[in-house]
Amino acid sequence: MTDVLDVAIVGYGPVGQTLAILLGQRGWRVGVFEKQPAAYPLPRAVHFDHEVARILQGAGLGEVLPRLSEPADVYEWRNAAGETLLRIGSSAAGLSGWPEANMFSQPDLERELDARARTLPSVEVHRAAEVVELEPADDGVVLVFTGADGRRARARARYVGGCDGANSFVRRRLGVPVTDLGFFFDWLIVDVLPKEPRVWDPINGQVCDPARPTTVVSGGPGRRRWEFMRLPGEDIAQLNTDATAWRLLQPWALHPGNAVLERHAVYTFHARWVDEWKMDRVLLAGDAAHQMPPFAGQGMCAGIRDAANLAWKLDLVLGGKAADTLLDTYASERIPQVRQVIGFSIELGKVICVSDPEQAAARDAAMIATVRETGPTPPLPTPAIGPGVLREGDARAGHLFLQGRVGRGDHAGRFDDVIGRGFVLVSPAADPKTRLAPDLAAFFESIGGLTAHVGPEAPVRDVDGSYARWFAQHGIEAALQRPDFHIFGAAPSVDGCADLVAGLRTALGS
Ligand SMILES: Cc1cc2nc3c(=O)[nH]c(=O)nc-3n(C[C@H](O)[C@H](O)[C@H](O)COP(=O)(O)OP(=O)(O)OC[C@H]3O[C@@H](n4cnc5c(N)ncnc54)[C@H](O)[C@@H]3O)c2cc1C
Repeated sequence: MTDVLDVAIVGYGPVGQTLAILLGQRGWRVGVFEKQPAAYPLPRAVHFDHEVARILQGAGLGEVLPRLSEPADVYEWRNAAGETLLRIGSSAAGLSGWPEANMFSQPDLERELDARARTLPSVEVHRAAEVVELEPADDGVVLVFTGADGRRARARARYVGGCDGANSFVRRRLGVPVTDLGFFFDWLIVDVLPKEPRVWDPINGQVCDPARPTTVVSGGPGRRRWEFMRLPGEDIAQLNTDATAWRLLQPWALHPGNAVLERHAVYTFHARWVDEWKMDRVLLAGDAAHQMPPFAGQGMCAGIRDAANLAWKLDLVLGGKAADTLLDTYASERIPQVRQVIGFSIELGKVICVSDPEQAAARDAAMIATVRETGPTPPLPTPAIGPGVLREGDARAGHLFLQGRVGRGDHAGRFDDVIGRGFVLVSPAADPKTRLAPDLAAFFESIGGLTAHVGPEAPVRDVDGSYARWFAQHGIEAALQRPDFHIFGAAPSVDGCADLVAGLRTALGS
């Protein structure tokens, strides 16, 4: 058996990869065990949002994201007659300093995450290593895995991250209850590489035609994605063929002469989540803990949020700066948000997955009336996280904090790249550090806390005025941001910084 790992991660999809990087960057010894010998080569997720972009920036992908993805400014739903039912407009400058909607190909992202993970000396990746047993051990867990030669080997870790996807072995092994909302539909997924440049208007859309509900979206630079709902009574084997895919693509004038069919596959989308995400020293994340229909493009996003939430908590616990009970807040914070996102995805699905013409006509009439009245809708903000490491009674706690462009000395760029990551106290009024008594300042420093006085003339220059606007809009003078970019708490005056840090010390049980 190898030496003890700090964290063993089962599964090297985007969630396991992100968790491995976020822990490896903090210096923890991470071993990843992935049963497949090579990465899954075909596209699945095509959309991530601004918050996930910021997390990926934090994982070292900030430079590559712009060439890996293309922003989408609109998501428009039309009926069979081409009338607009809903138009969601997305801004190129989302709250987190990245476009609100980013279209990409999952294998491209996984390749970049893998490359990044392999630069980290404390991360080891074992491919063709299927985890087949978990055994409790003193102060840790023993993983039993089979290697490429079929032989069994063992590894010991202080904590285990179960990031092993929808058919998770770890979830089954833990025997934790699953809530399944029983909302499932089959869809034929078709990925296409057009050979000629074309302007797709809208870039992302839904064709809400009861004769064949269809999703038509970007699949990332140079790619397009179609998703066709299987109709009642339709045979999956007949649907999932090259010939059917080309026939269904005809309305878009696509044929083998002007496009390459990259793949087609039928997926059944589920809406379900696990009710317990932590059992002793094993934690579930990503599709192992929750699955949702793809209509909001949030399945992978939710998993990457899990990784961001879990990484800083494991960091504090492994470093002896917080008790193991801090990890209980992982589930209490993540589950309520995931449930809301699943609920929202289902609501979208109920509108989209209509194959009855009468029902579709009633839906269209109601939606056309609404869109005429209201015009384009902004994307819904991600709901706040649930109770956990948050200042009690604070309306802003649990919501995302912004990332704007700032300058310090000769260096200008996104806040996290210029100032750093971790717990950050930000104020436009004064340097928050000046408001911390020595014991609080020492505690804050011990958890890697940073402070920033941001303003036009302040040491941290508010390059585009976004911090001035945000603080004015919220009527506050200080905010304490967590390492996963959520607000721990906010204060009306910069003098409230001491209370914020004292509250954090209590919440962490430090
Ligand atoms: C058609 C489609 C469209 C989608 N669109 C979007 C979208 O636009 N936006 C979005 O955010 N999400 C989307 N999703 C969801 C997204 O693809 C998933 O949520 C995401 O891949 C989950 O990542 P993961 O790392 O949790 O799991 P996975 O990517 O499934 O990775 C799990 C890994 O664990 C490995 N594994 C399993 N068992 C073991 C074991 N016993 N030992 C070792 N390794 C093991 C597997 O081989 C696999 O590599 C879409 C999904 C589909 C299918």
